[in-house]
Amino acid sequence: MPERYSPENYEPSRADKANNLNNRLNKFATKHLGRHGRLMFYILFEISGTWSAKQGIEKFPIIGEVLRSATAQAYEKGINRDIQPLADSLRQEVGTALIDYLENMHIIREWSGNRKIKAEGEDRKVHVTGFESLAVNNQQISAVMEQTIPKFLEENTYSISFEQNLLMSSEYNLEEKNADGVADYSTKEIKISATKSFSASRIINSTLLHEIWHNSDWYGARSVPTEERLRLLQDIIQRVKSPDRYKSDYVESINNPDKQKELQYKATEYFAEVGSKVLTNEIYTIPKADRDLFRAYIKKHDPNFDWAKANRRRSEIVQPKQKSKRKVHSAK
Ligand SMILES: [Zn+2]
Repeated sequence: MPERYSPENYEPSRADKANNLNNRLNKFATKHLGRHGRLMFYILFEISGTWSAKQGIEKFPIIGEVLRSATAQAYEKGINRDIQPLADSLRQEVGTALIDYLENMHIIREWSGNRKIKAEGEDRKVHVTGFESLAVNNQQISAVMEQTIPKFLEENTYSISFEQNLLMSSEYNLEEKNADGVADYSTKEIKISATKSFSASRIINSTLLHEIWHNSDWYGARSVPTEERLRLLQDIIQRVKSPDRYKSDYVESINNPDKQKELQYKATEYFAEVGSKVLTNEIYTIPKADRDLFRAYIKKHDPNFDWAKANRRRSEIVQPKQKSKRKVHSAK
C-alpha cells in the first residue's frame, strides 16, 4: 500500500500549487492587462505546458471569459450551432467552464503547437522509463501498450514513467491522499507510483489501464470531433447518475461542495475505471449498458481490436510463463 496520508507528510499537490499561482496571476492580469493581453497571457500558458488548461479553466476565470466569448462568436457564425442544445444541456449538468473548453478545443489545439502530441508518421512508440525495480519492467509495459490495447489509446499516450509520491487531486476530497497513477491529458504523459510489493497485475490492470483511458476521454481524445466528445460525456454522466451504474468505491467516494464539479470529476473517473475493466476479465462485472458504450467507442476508433486475443496476450505479459529450470520429464 502507498504511504498513508498524514498532516506531517502532506505536501501541496500540483493542483493546490496551481490554484495559488492562478489566484495571484488572475489578480495581476485583471489589474494590468486588457482583453487582448489577457488572451495572450492564456495562450502563453497553454504553450508553456507548465500547467494544464483543465486546471486553468477551473481555477482561472479569465480563461472561461475568453472561451465563453469564443463560443458565442462561433454560434453567431454558425459553427457548432447544431450541437448548441446538447452543449447547453451539458452546461446545466457540469457547469459552463468545462463545456466552453470542450467546444473550443480546436482553437486551443492550434495554440498548443509544441505539445507532445504525436504527429502523423512520428515514432509511435510510447516512452517507458523507471520501472526496473518493480514487479513489471519497462519492456513488459511497452509490450502491454503495443500488443494489448486499442490503437487509439496507445497513440494518445506519449510516455509512461515511474514516480514516487503521487497525490490525488485535492478537489476529490478523498480520505486516501496518495494516487497510484496520474495522467496529464494535455501532454499525454502518464506517471505511475508503486512499491516493490505491488503485483504486476495491480500495476498493469488497475493502474496503467485506468490512466490510459483518461488520455482518450472528452478532454484527451483531441482528434475526435466536438459533437462526439460531448455525446460521450453526456453518455457517461447518464451512467454515473443511473441506479444500475458500476459502483466503484473510488468513484462513489469523490465529493465536492460544488455539485457540478463533483459530477464532472465522477464522470472523469467513472470513464477511466470502467474503461480499464472492460479491457480485462473484469468486463463481466460491468453493467451491460457500460460494456455496450465502451464496445461502441472502441469499435469506432479501432475496428480491428480483438478483445479476446489482447486479453490473453496481456495475461501472458503480466504473468510470464515460468521457464522450467530443469528438463521436464518427457511425456509418454
Ligand atoms: Zn483516474
